[in-house]
Amino acid sequence: MNVCLRGKRCAKVLIICLLLSLILTVWISLQLSPIITSLSVNTSDCECHPNEDNAHHKAKDMSSTETSSHRLAVVVPFRDRFDELLTFVPHMKTFLKKQGIDYKIYIINQMDVYRFNRASLINAGFLISRPECDYMAMHDVDLLPLNANLSYHFPTDGPFHVSSPQLHPKYHYKTFVGGVLLIRGEHFEKVNGMSNNYWGWGLEDDEFYVRLKEANLFISRPQGITTGINDTFRHIHSTHRKRDTIRLFNQKEITRKRDRKTGLNSVQFRLKSVNEVMIDRSAVSVYNVQLICDLSLTPWCQTRQTIASKGPKAANS
Ligand code: UDP
Ligand code: MN
Repeated sequence: MNVCLRGKRCAKVLIICLLLSLILTVWISLQLSPIITSLSVNTSDCECHPNEDNAHHKAKDMSSTETSSHRLAVVVPFRDRFDELLTFVPHMKTFLKKQGIDYKIYIINQMDVYRFNRASLINAGFLISRPECDYMAMHDVDLLPLNANLSYHFPTDGPFHVSSPQLHPKYHYKTFVGGVLLIRGEHFEKVNGMSNNYWGWGLEDDEFYVRLKEANLFISRPQGITTGINDTFRHIHSTHRKRDTIRLFNQKEITRKRDRKTGLNSVQFRLKSVNEVMIDRSAVSVYNVQLICDLSLTPWCQTRQTIASKGPKAANS
């Protein structure tokens, strides 16, 4: 304090003090900013940090001479498959990078109380990814491509079924289109996406096959692949993952028919939040979605336990 009583010198010391505290404030805020962004749930925050392992992966494969302006949305319908996700994300990153694919992975996490609905999650994932991507891979989280010749490039001619019946480890019927299917945005729109009636396991992909067929979209499949059903994919489906195959109300009857009413234009969901999750050094976006079920149309969206405890008209959550 004594120093400050001496006029000009006092002013100098004050200015130095002010400058020092300014520098200190800037330094502290720089140190804190990574913590704030890592807590954020907003995807755009993540994209502000140019990082090799960020959600967008620009084509970098120098062996590929073609310059492609296409971007792939890897849309993964998801619930309670964290173990598989830990393997899926780094595997896909390595696999797609080798092909020079520009892509983003969209994990569509179903967080409502209803039975799993793979098709509605794919519809939601398509709508979420559409502004950023012009084609989509409808991709199971537990199916890992092993053969580098399985192309994930833009399917110019029509839908490309990567996990064809000749290559999929489990499903070998001719009209199978599940597992991994590449489709251009406009083709998915043309068929009004997938039916929203399929709660629980199975048949939604078979109904989608009929949609493609009726729209005269020819499904092509990998050619000249020398691996087979045991070594083209790894199906990391543990035996404790039981498939939800029960059929409730008139589900069996309705889901065996072609659905001409529901689809991309009628899917209803709430996007509750988005998490940027780092798995090893790969960032992946998890979209937390609550599907909305019209109980008067598809009461079988409810679990058997819900029906038993609340009666068939349990309210929307
Ligand atoms: N899935 C999920 N949680 C579930 C059920 C299914 O995440 O409770 C997703 C996951 O991406 C999975 C896909 O839906 O790979 C297909 O389901 P599943 O593996 O049971 O069918 P499969 O093709 O093995 O008969
Ligand atoms: Mn599976």
